Amino acid sequence: MKAAVLRNVKQPLSIEEISIDNPNINEVLVETKASGVCRTDLHYIEGNYSHQLPVVLGHEVSGIVKEVGDGVKYLKKGDTVVGCLSIFCGRCERCLEGRPALCLRDPIWDLSRNTDEKTKLFKQNETINQFLRLSSFAEMMLVHENSLVKVDPEIGYEQLALLGCGITTGLGAVLKTAQINPGCTVAVIGCGGVGLNVIQGARIAGALRIIAIDTVENKLQMAIDHGATDIVNATSQNIVEQIIKITNGGVDYSFDAIGAKITVEQSYEIIRPGGTATVVGLIPQGVKIELDGGGFIDEKKIQGSCMGSNQFRTDIPRYIELYKQGRLKIDSLVSQTLKLKSINQAFEDMKTGEFARSVIVFE
Ligand SMILES: [Zn+2]
Ligand SMILES: [Zn+2]
Repeated sequence: MKAAVLRNVKQPLSIEEISIDNPNINEVLVETKASGVCRTDLHYIEGNYSHQLPVVLGHEVSGIVKEVGDGVKYLKKGDTVVGCLSIFCGRCERCLEGRPALCLRDPIWDLSRNTDEKTKLFKQNETINQFLRLSSFAEMMLVHENSLVKVDPEIGYEQLALLGCGITTGLGAVLKTAQINPGCTVAVIGCGGVGLNVIQGARIAGALRIIAIDTVENKLQMAIDHGATDIVNATSQNIVEQIIKITNGGVDYSFDAIGAKITVEQSYEIIRPGGTATVVGLIPQGVKIELDGGGFIDEKKIQGSCMGSNQFRTDIPRYIELYKQGRLKIDSLVSQTLKLKSINQAFEDMKTGEFARSVIVFE
């Protein structure tokens, strides 16, 4: 099968013919139909996060089940599925507490193959590493059944793919991590693939005022289309001063969808006493965040959000219903579709900041 392989950081992905194994116990072979190109993938290409190489990236995906291994009862051949990196064991403390996105993934639960077993991906004698137990920049995926949710087959594959990461992360940060109140004021820093879904989550949850912050005018326009009530262009003004001014003291909830030191710190500075800042963006390894300690006496809080605190097997079908009702926009998040051979173009386009999501589509 064809796959886009990362062989060296800061280099384009190479399109290669590689092999994929047959499903073992609890594993599922999936024909990839569409895969979103997420900023997290770019972080690994640029070396902000490291992974054993060579690796096939990609983690926002929809597809069709081709074959199931022994023990798989949840899925059968022909099912339409969405993949999610939040694989859950269903047996650890976090899973049993209802927080499967934080699954402790104890090796005793066999969510991965042992190191002495055949690898899932390979090229002759060379091991090709799997990324986040998915590796969706390839024509086929071999994954554990607990990385998949069965979904409505009548939805487009591009739309379904986006539910696997960007939408679940953005909506979940608002609805599940922060659990905002109707009538509150929200600010969202960064209006890309995830930020636009934070905005949609705030709209769905009944926020009274949703302030979108970005440096790219086109994204601010998209923010309005997805539910923002106010926009602030961060190129021309000090966003902290501006937000404090227009909200008369700060917002109830802020969300950082960038993951840069400065924007995370700003997300804390723009909340009012009792407010909560939620960090959704992925912060590069090793970056330290500095906060004004005085904020704690005002009960200002800052928290992380892991993939929107998802319970993806129940969340994603619900988000699909919201989409069918017209309350969740997905079509407008797909900026362009490309073939696998053009995947490097998708990363170049991402760097321009003009695109919400590029989606790789497979024949
Ligand atoms: Zn992602
Ligand atoms: Zn678990």
